[in-house]
Amino acid sequence: MEASAQIGVTGLAVMGRNLARNFARNGYTVAVHNRSEGRTKSLVEEFGHEGAFVPAWSPQELVAALERPRRLLIMVKAGRATDEVIEEFAPLLEAGDMLIDGGNAHFADTRRRERALRERGIHFVGTGVSGGEEGALHGPSVMPGGSAESYAVLGPMLERISAHVDGDPCCTHIGTDGAGHFVKMVHNGIEYADMQLIAEAYHLLREVGGYAPAEIAETFRRWNEGRLDSYLIEITAEVLAHTDAATGEPFVDVVQDAAEQKGTGRWTVQTALDLGSPVTAIAQATFARVASARAELRAAYRPLPGGGRQELRPHEAERFTRDVEQALYASKVIAYDQGWTMIRDAAAEYGWDIDLGAVARIWRGGCIIRAAFLDRIRAAHAANPDLVSLLAEEEFAAEVSDAQAAWRTVVAGAAQHGIPVPAFSAALASYDTLRSPHLPAALIQGQRDFFGAHTYRRTDRPGSFHTLWAEPG
Ligand code: NAP
Repeated sequence: MEASAQIGVTGLAVMGRNLARNFARNGYTVAVHNRSEGRTKSLVEEFGHEGAFVPAWSPQELVAALERPRRLLIMVKAGRATDEVIEEFAPLLEAGDMLIDGGNAHFADTRRRERALRERGIHFVGTGVSGGEEGALHGPSVMPGGSAESYAVLGPMLERISAHVDGDPCCTHIGTDGAGHFVKMVHNGIEYADMQLIAEAYHLLREVGGYAPAEIAETFRRWNEGRLDSYLIEITAEVLAHTDAATGEPFVDVVQDAAEQKGTGRWTVQTALDLGSPVTAIAQATFARVASARAELRAAYRPLPGGGRQELRPHEAERFTRDVEQALYASKVIAYDQGWTMIRDAAAEYGWDIDLGAVARIWRGGCIIRAAFLDRIRAAHAANPDLVSLLAEEEFAAEVSDAQAAWRTVVAGAAQHGIPVPAFSAALASYDTLRSPHLPAALIQGQRDFFGAHTYRRTDRPGSFHTLWAEPG
């Protein structure tokens, strides 16, 4: 077989097939392969007219079809299958070739695989791909890790097939080894937080404001024209406006209120604990999904009293709606800031040189959390590459300060009405924790010293101290 393809794709389920089509539509010759032949055949039959595909019926044929250095994208089920596919292909490759994993791998697995393949002279490029099936076809947000050398060869192709915003590709070299998959994981963690915050805003408008789903859809449409402009707000309005065809009821009223997850939110929270990153809004969003699905616990708690459920009068409801927008926006800034803190912490831990502004830039299009406000995060980091937090930037700080009175009213009102707002509350508590000049951590240090002689540091002099405590009589 003539080596004519600029890229190969193995794994042609929804993601692999659409990425292969995206490469072909952009003028690349794409060699395509799948473990079972059916998917390869149907891709070529259905979409062969879209560009230059070279079907390969074995790993050997796929490798033989690739120009050197070879670029081979793996799009198989994340986990063991990825290791199996690497083991199958690596012996067929040569030094300088690139194996790209576009699956949802855990970044620790990517680090392990990169190390092992580097010893064999092969570049392993763990690449986060966001945007689902549609993004894969029309332009995803692409987060490649791996060596700078591999990006020099592969980067232009990935940039070309990625989404573009204002002419900029939604793709950049994130950092070495597992940095790409790490950043993709945090993207998903932020996505969990954003979705939960929006869901809490809806819940409040419905239960406290007394609005119907279709009315709330209109509110979200309006918000989508302002600073909350984002894909998630846009689709929320669509979902809320949707009527179930079978019953004529609002769609949200016929769907079971038990949220599911594939696990990237959980990875984010687990990893945040290891790094010591306080991503409380992301964690609460993840736990909120978990709790919603715990039917037996919910049944046990159901008979217990909640708050008073008096709906607001219309003019109060209008004001409340404005307050909810403020609370949602401020909470969103905190949740995103938590994500960026985590990326910064990981960069320090793993020695990744991550451009935090570029991360915001490549999330402006293609991915689920795409939003107008990401351009402001990009600009904030561009203006100050050492920015420690979004809240250290003047404009974000002013907006959150302006929102804080309404934010407190909303969280307090939710508590009084018995409406759970775990992500709103966590974001507000995070704001107050990090802003407080004094925290009760001093008392915790005292407790630790009492029962465990763990020592403490004093405010008035350096060194470690231990008090000889008398046991309570
Ligand atoms: P998938 O359902 O996760 O995986 C199916 C594909 O994996 C099929 O091509 C299957 O081949 C292949 N496969 C499974 N085990 C294999 C093995 N042991 N050896 C060789 N091939 C094997 O497919 P997907 O939804 O398209 O996702 C692909 C990857 O992208 C996953 O890692 C996923 O996490 C990630 N991802 C998905 C999305 C999304 O929205 N779906 C978004 C971003 C990233 P057969 O046809 O022979 O069974």
